Formats: sequence, C-alpha cells, structure tokens
Amino acid sequence: MRYGILSDIHANLEAYEAVISALKEEQLDKLIIVGDIVGYGADPKECISLTKSLSAGIVCGNHDRAAAGFMDTNWFNDYARKAVLWTQSVLSEEEKQFLREPGLIFEDENIIAVHGSLDEPQKFNYIFEFDEADRTFLKMGKKPCFIGHSHSPAIIMKDRIKGINAIFKEEVELEEGRKYIINVGSVGQPRDGDNRASYAIYDVNSRKVTIKRIGYDVKKAQDKILDSGLPEILAYRLYEGR
Ligand code: ZN
Repeated sequence: MRYGILSDIHANLEAYEAVISALKEEQLDKLIIVGDIVGYGADPKECISLTKSLSAGIVCGNHDRAAAGFMDTNWFNDYARKAVLWTQSVLSEEEKQFLREPGLIFEDENIIAVHGSLDEPQKFNYIFEFDEADRTFLKMGKKPCFIGHSHSPAIIMKDRIKGINAIFKEEVELEEGRKYIINVGSVGQPRDGDNRASYAIYDVNSRKVTIKRIGYDVKKAQDKILDSGLPEILAYRLYEGR
C-alpha cells in the first residue's frame, strides 16, 4: 500500500499540476490532501476542480474554512485576509460547500492526518517546538501522523528512551515502538527557502516515508497573482520559497 500525501496547495495550479503529474509515476493506492486547497494563489476554482477529479481523502484547512465563510479571519494577517476575501468573491456556493465538507481529521488503518495538530484540530495550532509536537504525540497511537500548515517539511520522532527528536533526512524508515509526525511541506507556497513544491510518499510495506520536491513554473503562478489583484507579496514570496 502506497500513499501520496500533499498539503497547502493554496490555489497554485502550476505547482499542483506538477505534483500530480509526478505522482503518476509513483504507483499510488491512495492520495491524501491535508488541507488548504485554496487561499493565496490565483486559481482556487481550478484547484478545487482538479481535487474533485482525484478521489482523495481530504482534511479541512484553516484557509478552506475561511474561504467557505465557515471561520472568522480575525487572526489572519492583512494579506492572508485579503486573499480570503478575494477567494470568497470568485468561488461559487457549490465550490464553498465542497471546501466546507471535509472533516478535521482523516484516519484509516495505516495513517492519521490533520492540518495543524491533533490536540485541538479546530484551532489549527502550529507544531514548531517539541512541546507542541508532544501534545499531538500524546493523542496518537502507532500510526504515523501527517500534517501541513507551517509549509515547511519536517519529520519528528518520539522514542520512549531518547524523547523527541527532529530527523534531518528526506527519507526515514519508521521503526517499531516509535511515533512519527511528518510535516509534508507545501505544494503551492513552500516556506523553507526551497521554492519547489513539496509532498510525501508513504510505503506501508517497506515502512518508508520520503519527502520529495519538484520544480514548477513559478513565473506563471506569480504572473497570475499579479494580474488578479491579490497582494503582490503573495507572488514574490513564491520565488523566494518564504
Ligand atoms: Zn497553509
């Protein structure tokens, strides 16, 4: 059983299509989208339509909820709020309904997935520090937990003897008796200084998780943002990967 796991597409169709086409080579059994299909980018309608064609397992992200009018935007920064309002203005009721539908947690026999954290999924907390990670570790069993939200790929492991550690590798073999949180990074707006789209593959039989990157037409995505009237910073940051 092989999973492809993506997050934080953020209405960037060029990045999304590049990842979906790379996944065609992966012989996947299941695709999981860990939230934030829209927000920031210029192609929310096209990204929703592509998502519908994929029959993926989906969890809801904070931008999806906000764009669907399901969450207030008080805590969003200025340009994120502007992007939410712009996205709301272009989406149909039916598209908003599609964003509203997914639950906050996806779980099956092999994995669990949540946009922010398992302890209070409705609050979309970030996991940056080990104590924040531990609140999710305490809520999970043996299955690896896949997250997004920070737009920076990361693998965090909890071991009964060594405690919590970050693993600085692109590929890790999950070991018995250890718990893992895997941040799959962002398809449409990476923030770790690498502007290529990020996603993860989990092969259940070999127990290997791999974080992969793929380049896409950043210029085209930027030009669409600049032409749409969205805040310009949302275009420039794509090139920086910040
Ligand atoms: Zn996001």
